[in-house]
Amino acid sequence: MNLLLPTSCIGCKEFQTATICQKCLKRLKDSQIQRCAQCALPIALHEINHLCIDCLKKQPPFDVTLCLDSYGGFLTEAIHSYKYQHQIAIAHGLLDAWLGIHPRGLQGSQSGDVILPIPMSQTKLHQRGFNQSWELCKLFSRKLKIKTNWKVLNRIHIEGDQVSANKQERAQRLINIFSISPDSIELIQNKNIVLIDDVMTTGATLSVIAQLLKDFGAQSVHNWVILRTPNKSPC
Ligand SMILES: [Zn+2]
Ligand SMILES: [Zn+2]
Repeated sequence: MNLLLPTSCIGCKEFQTATICQKCLKRLKDSQIQRCAQCALPIALHEINHLCIDCLKKQPPFDVTLCLDSYGGFLTEAIHSYKYQHQIAIAHGLLDAWLGIHPRGLQGSQSGDVILPIPMSQTKLHQRGFNQSWELCKLFSRKLKIKTNWKVLNRIHIEGDQVSANKQERAQRLINIFSISPDSIELIQNKNIVLIDDVMTTGATLSVIAQLLKDFGAQSVHNWVILRTPNKSPC
């Protein structure tokens, strides 16, 4: 019902009918910067092949990353309200903003075959009652007419403090917690997969999932993230 009534812009919060106002959309367009084609880190204009040094040194398993803006930019508050206060209306604004910035969806001639959420463990889902990635996924899927399915990727819950684990332990844990449902393999094989998430920080989770999808025969993996941290250190 809320969607039929005037709402507030996800950027400036001004009360109006669009989920993002023209002024904020222009601001978002104007703030677009050159980014690494593969991981979306900010890069200088002259970087070789439009890739950052990290991706040139070691190619991540995903092929492309698109984002709306940097974490810390003017949409950060909207992302927090969406994620932690479950203000689902914001997801509609994020979708509209996305279509304003990336009207063609997937870059190049490829089109996405399946759009998948970053899974949340059942334990965490019960605690939070909301998977921000899945809510975005449903909206994008409906609007862009790309199939989606929350059952393809699974995540098990691991007790313990991720923060106190060292980098290597964290990486190993990540590899162990994700899996693909055996009856979903056909959905992945030779397909162009889009992974959707709200914030990309180190890219470790997206890398592990992309590798898993490639191991099961995915043709390409594209990350669509709303905000990208401007550097790889966790925020
Ligand atoms: Zn606005
Ligand atoms: Zn990169």
